[in-house]
Amino acid sequence: MAGAKLKNCAQCGKIFPSLRGEKICRDCQIKEQDLELQVMQYVRDHPGVSMKEVKEALGVSDKLMKRMVNEGMFTNLNVTNDFLYPCVGCGRMIHTGTYCSDCLAKLRRETKKVAEALHIRIREDKKMNTIDRLNAEAEREFEKESRHLTKISFAKNGRKR
Ligand SMILES: [Zn+2]
Ligand SMILES: [Zn+2]
Repeated sequence: MAGAKLKNCAQCGKIFPSLRGEKICRDCQIKEQDLELQVMQYVRDHPGVSMKEVKEALGVSDKLMKRMVNEGMFTNLNVTNDFLYPCVGCGRMIHTGTYCSDCLAKLRRETKKVAEALHIRIREDKKMNTIDRLNAEAEREFEKESRHLTKISFAKNGRKR
């Protein structure tokens, strides 16, 4: 199998061909997806449920719960505050993504500034390239012209003799 690397499944330890850098085997992936569906169903069936209850009822690992929370899977569902976790930027409790909306807005502004600074640099680089190109063209033209002139003067000199 081209591109496949044999790996030990991080979940069950079985050796499996990892095609795109997957860490767990196909069986465990299916099991995990199944568990995700069960969690979603459970949360929908138990409004106001806490994360502790879900974990106890379905035997879900912290890791999977955390990933689901991070992916915003419970954003519009009726769950308790233990589904929340702190924003990486300011520590405010959030229920989706890595940053709260305020920090995201700030990050976006900063990213824009960096992007603009980069843009200016790129534009200046381009200008430099244009000047270089024009210089090179002018040099080529000059060479052509001088070769031409040399030929003419040779021809003239030749005729004189
Ligand atoms: Zn596995
Ligand atoms: Zn924040």
